[in-house]
Amino acid sequence: ESKRKLIIVSNRLPLSIKRVDGVFESSISSGGLVTSLSGLCKPTQFQWFGWPGMEVKNSKDREDVSRSLSEYHAVPIFLDSDLAHEHYNGFSNRILWPILHYQSGVIFDDGPWQAYRRVNELFADSVADVAQDGTLIWVHDYHLMLLPELLRTRLHAKGKHCAIGFSLHTPFPAGDFWRNLPVRKHLIDGLLASHLIGFHTDEYKQNFIDTCASLLGARTEIPNQIQYKSRLVIVGVDRLDHIKGLTQKLRGFDVFLDDHPELRNKVVLIQVAVPSREDVKEYQELETELSTIAGKINGKHATPEGTPLLYMHRSVPFTELTALYSVADACLLTSTRDGMNLVSFEYVACQEKRHGVLVLSEFAGAASFMREGSIPFHPANTTEMSESIFHALNLDPAERKCKYLYLRDFVNNNTRQASTIPSPDNIPVANLCY
Ligand code: UDP
Repeated sequence: ESKRKLIIVSNRLPLSIKRVDGVFESSISSGGLVTSLSGLCKPTQFQWFGWPGMEVKNSKDREDVSRSLSEYHAVPIFLDSDLAHEHYNGFSNRILWPILHYQSGVIFDDGPWQAYRRVNELFADSVADVAQDGTLIWVHDYHLMLLPELLRTRLHAKGKHCAIGFSLHTPFPAGDFWRNLPVRKHLIDGLLASHLIGFHTDEYKQNFIDTCASLLGARTEIPNQIQYKSRLVIVGVDRLDHIKGLTQKLRGFDVFLDDHPELRNKVVLIQVAVPSREDVKEYQELETELSTIAGKINGKHATPEGTPLLYMHRSVPFTELTALYSVADACLLTSTRDGMNLVSFEYVACQEKRHGVLVLSEFAGAASFMREGSIPFHPANTTEMSESIFHALNLDPAERKCKYLYLRDFVNNNTRQASTIPSPDNIPVANLCY
């Protein structure tokens, strides 16, 4: 039976351990978290990681405790008493708890902070070892705010892909209350490595979003999303045809990367080149040329963190295509001549949330209707193309929205359903004469 694997991580395990006649015995303790998670046992195969609540020094005892806890799917993370004390009382409860509950006058102390970091690292080591590719990891509460990032780094190094969720069981205060804490950026940074973060109320969520924007410059214009250290995605979808200006597009993107080395790891162009007329020699030659340029661009601009160009010479299922359109911050279309270009309309239709920017060759038929809402350019001019890409990626949210609304209105008002086909009676006579 394939049950979804889940790892829950909290500072304390939801179990009490007692030593009875030299034997360690575990029993379930009570608490809100225990109650609310008990329903999970059935559909998922889960393990719960946490501190067992007591110091266990020798390795024989540690084995016994681990065995006793394993009956309840619990995995202990052993900590020395001093470290556990400094982490739990010193930092989590004396410094972090008051800030999270809107109390000012907190005094920072480096010793407890180092203990907090160390404990989060020990948790990360232990969870990253056991998690498998695809395991869901759900981290709980303010004692472990650094854990998502520490985990991500370790999982990445081990080639494991795991979604990480974080639930905060306290309020999240407005930005001002973080001021006294010199390590606040580390904490928020740690949390932001989660794929999903849960708060009790909209107010806490909004405080978190505002703090991420003001403290770390994260992008927060899309509701319920925070973009941080992520790449800006540019998409291009074209039939592999000379009229689409694909060699020009790749050359222009190369110039853009030359012009903006600071954006090297921040931008990726995902280019779908749909196979077309493959038995015609000129089309085969064009494909060879494009593959060569694509290879050269990545050879020149790739870094250990990634490649700037994803060139796909295949067709893409429609659902994958719409997903691609909707995650892209900009769409780059470079036709040297094109009847209309439907891709530009499809991109607009998928951008209701993001207000992505259309960078559109002035030679696409669509440009005669969409000039105002797009960034038009001449496809043979690589410098102009590079500048247009840069312009698109740096439009402020208000401008993006304004351009987008113009495009959306055009697309929405000119669908098959919306356009009014005049009945023969309504066609002006003058038209019939031409
Ligand atoms: N398209 C497709 N398969 C793909 C990618 C795109 O069928 O793998 C579709 C895309 O959704 C669009 C059409 O191909 O509707 C291309 O139309 P467009 O007017 O942009 O260019 P054309 O190919 O007609 O010159």
